[in-house]
Amino acid sequence: MIVVDDVHKHFGGFRAVDGATLEIRKGSITGLVGPNGAGKTTLFNVVAGVLPPTSGRVVMDGEDITGLPPHALFSKGLLRTFQIAHEFSSMTVRENLMMVPADQSGETLWNAWFGRGRIAQEERALAAKADEVLDFLTISHLADERAGNLSGGQKKLLELGRTMMVDAKIVFLDEVGAGVNRTLLNTIGDAILRLNRERGYTFCMIEHDMDFIGRLCDPVIVMAEGHVLAQGTIDEIKANEQVIEAYLGT
Ligand code: ADP
Repeated sequence: MIVVDDVHKHFGGFRAVDGATLEIRKGSITGLVGPNGAGKTTLFNVVAGVLPPTSGRVVMDGEDITGLPPHALFSKGLLRTFQIAHEFSSMTVRENLMMVPADQSGETLWNAWFGRGRIAQEERALAAKADEVLDFLTISHLADERAGNLSGGQKKLLELGRTMMVDAKIVFLDEVGAGVNRTLLNTIGDAILRLNRERGYTFCMIEHDMDFIGRLCDPVIVMAEGHVLAQGTIDEIKANEQVIEAYLGT
């Protein structure tokens, strides 16, 4: 579904991503692991259109998407989760979800004048969709809570929920498990598995927690020093000498 072909991203003379080549299979939950500074986040940002690559190509379903901005990728169903921005923290959880769809009416003056009835109708549909997402994530009780009051794990669920407001095909998750307690981690893991199995989402996730990765991901891709060091099942990765060395070397 996604092919990353010899991608480089340099910051000045520093090679944060240095010839990364990998594939993300449609329908997979692909894990991206590696020691700190391996270039995982930078590669994510290149694939998700946040950073242009220095060189190399990113292809989605056979189409070259290199350097396309996030909103263009969004309309193709490629999403990256983002932390809830500060300015959204005083809005409720439901309102945060309703903000997501990019092509809402009400954006133009024309719609504001002539489409009021339609906007109200669309807002009701969006609110219903948001409630369905909250139900799926088992956090309906938080619908009217301010996003800023959520725990770290609940915020991660909301981040995941935002990808469900649109027809996502592939979602890039950046450490959704970081700093989350076990119970919520299981809820997040269950939601990811159900989105994958029941709704056909493909995932690529950066994660440090090897148990979490082991439960969800196949394959697991290991990056070190800006490129791919190894790929395989979690057990293959854990037994790989080069991988062990890369982790110990940091
Ligand atoms: P990882 O996610 O694997 O921990 P990152 O992609 O965050 O790795 O970082 C890879 C390297 O690139 C790090 O050494 C980091 O300091 C550097 N780096 C990341 N972003 C920038 C930037 N905007 N400017 C300069 N160096 C950066």
